[in-house]
Amino acid sequence: MDITWESIAGHDREIRRLRRMADENRLPHALLFAGPDGIGKKRAGRVLAAMILCQGHAPHPCGTCASCQALTHGAHPDYYELVPEAQGKGTPMIRIEAVRAMQQAVSRYPVMSNGRVVLIDDADRMNEAAANSLLKTLEEPPGAVTFILVTSAPSSLLATIRSRCLTVTFGMIPPETMRQALVRRGLPEPDAEELSLLADGSMGRAISLYEEGGLALRDEALALLEHLPQIRMTEIWQEAETKGKWERPKIGEWVLYLNMLLRDMLLLYVDGGSRLLYHSDRRKRLLALLDAYPEDRIFAMLSCVRDLQKRLQSNASPALQLEGFFIRMRDLCADQIDGFRKR
Ligand SMILES: [Zn+2]
Repeated sequence: MDITWESIAGHDREIRRLRRMADENRLPHALLFAGPDGIGKKRAGRVLAAMILCQGHAPHPCGTCASCQALTHGAHPDYYELVPEAQGKGTPMIRIEAVRAMQQAVSRYPVMSNGRVVLIDDADRMNEAAANSLLKTLEEPPGAVTFILVTSAPSSLLATIRSRCLTVTFGMIPPETMRQALVRRGLPEPDAEELSLLADGSMGRAISLYEEGGLALRDEALALLEHLPQIRMTEIWQEAETKGKWERPKIGEWVLYLNMLLRDMLLLYVDGGSRLLYHSDRRKRLLALLDAYPEDRIFAMLSCVRDLQKRLQSNASPALQLEGFFIRMRDLCADQIDGFRKR
């Protein structure tokens, strides 16, 4: 893993604060990194861990000592990462067995560094037993261990756990900072620009949009909205079959684009020149769509899209879900055409 502070986009103030505390040996034994998904909280937690564990010369992490090398290769004996694990088809959770295994591991003396670090990702996914067990450890910390809890839902954690941690809140990454970071990662300039506007301040989101086919998927979603009023049943079957074969995350991204495009159309109803559009580069085509889509239909379609998002979480066949979705969407258009005729 990358253990340089420079690898993190944005969050300058929070990082400065953490570095200062670590330099001055003032870090509390438990920290809670809170903020939206995909903005680099876990990455920051790992770099902080590297800083705490580093045995080389300042500035820490030095990147060259045995500790830094071990962390870079993901094999540091004094670094422990706890993440939610799925059992069967259930939601991934952090269970008490995992917490106990961690407690046992950190009860021993550190092997390579002067202390140990435990990073708990998605800490809100601890079940009650796990959370209570962790709480006991936080109340009586076993020697030189630093806990870094990472969560996008701090309010779902036990209040007693929160109160034992110093909370550091990470905000959204500003578009310009994200654009630069995406370019540094090798994304083409135009994509970086567009994705930085689409990603809601989340670097993880920008990258997953890019990897799932990003803007091409967006244009596919837009093309569907343009064609929907004339779509034929055979096309619906074909679309449902093709998209039903996609990987679920890709279908999810495509649906998310539909959602964003419809929300953009609602904005355009209020203000055709609105600067708040996700897809400002598609403004003309979206404006052209407003003729075919009255406002109440857009609301109905948005709820249709949200319904599909929920259904796709289940284990039912995506192709069948998509077919039902296309038919409901087409029917909404048909109602509207009838509505026009009545006027
Ligand atoms: Zn080092």
